[in-house]
Amino acid sequence: MKKFIKDYNHEELVDFFTKIGEKEYRARQLINWLYEKNVNDFSLMTNFSKELRKFLDDEFILSPLTIEDRLISGIDGTEKYLFKTFDNHYIESVLIKNEMSDEGRLTVCISSQVGCPMGCRFCETAKIGFVRNLSCGEILDQICHVRRISGLKNNNIVFMGMGEPFLNYDNVLKAADIMNYSFGFHLSVRKITISTSGIYPAIERFIDERRPYNIALSLNDTEPTKRLENMPVEKKYPFKMISDLLSEKTTASRNRITIEYVMRKDNISKEDAKRLKKMFKYANIKLNLIPLNEGNHNLPIPTKEEIEDFVKELEIMNVPVSIRKSMGSDISGACGQLSGKKYKQEKELLCK
Ligand code: SAH
Ligand code: SF4
Repeated sequence: MKKFIKDYNHEELVDFFTKIGEKEYRARQLINWLYEKNVNDFSLMTNFSKELRKFLDDEFILSPLTIEDRLISGIDGTEKYLFKTFDNHYIESVLIKNEMSDEGRLTVCISSQVGCPMGCRFCETAKIGFVRNLSCGEILDQICHVRRISGLKNNNIVFMGMGEPFLNYDNVLKAADIMNYSFGFHLSVRKITISTSGIYPAIERFIDERRPYNIALSLNDTEPTKRLENMPVEKKYPFKMISDLLSEKTTASRNRITIEYVMRKDNISKEDAKRLKKMFKYANIKLNLIPLNEGNHNLPIPTKEEIEDFVKELEIMNVPVSIRKSMGSDISGACGQLSGKKYKQEKELLCK
């Protein structure tokens, strides 16, 4: 079977080109074609000889994903992409324009797994269960397609699509490193955020390896018993363990850490605000509040007023907060609301 070229990092490509008697710099040129120029055909790589282009085409598949559908929100321009993998699974990515207050921020929210094994109660992806990890090339190809189809160059990446990135550590980190290449996408390490439900050993490894990317931790409840009801991960890796690890190690690491907090009606009381304040008394951490999206979860969605009261409560206590606007609500286009399977079924229904 042919291999996927986007699964190779620079070092591996240098190795490959050297083995076939080509110069090392071919690796850089190839990465430049794949990501900076973002071509979708080996024949377009005009600084390679015709023979080399043909050889690459015989040996490798350039793009592991095919685009199945694209939905654009009429409200805020958010774009949702449905991709099919070579083995007929579906994954989604989202292009978010002007996310939050930062001017000109263009974010692609990418998936790291087909489905997710973590079983969070509020999450659409959880309903699929775990199918498989995405390869490095499948992670990168989402960005290539979104850029080519939209004609827009994102300057921000969040691993907040389908899946738990820290259960696919090697491929996710390899892809992040490739995104950072100056001769590729050239995305700054400060613009790449990996979101996790809290896989303790992977967070520890990430810090110990001094990985430079931002981390977002999905907290979502201030009481362990309640968190356990909504996020089964709390049983194996209690959030307390993770916050202890971070307070012990953050002085050594320079990672930017945000806490994600999906707001339901029943986790935004004054007591919750107080507990949040206490939890992050010493840490230099920003709280990112996300209104719970509508979905198949039967959980109570807070009103605008209830959210405002909670934010006020936190602000009085000087907890640094930002609120994520619910993007692409007309196309279920928010991160955390992605379910390639469901979307496909809906699509089939529409086609009937
Ligand atoms: N598995 C990782 C990353 C993907 S989920 C994680 O859990 O962090 C990305 C974010 O979407 C998480 O913060 C998650 O809490 C949030 N999310 C999931 N379902 C949601 C929903 N129904 N409404 C709002 N946010 C949701
Ligand atoms: Fe997986 Fe994240 Fe969804 Fe939980 S919230 S099921 S960890 S994708």
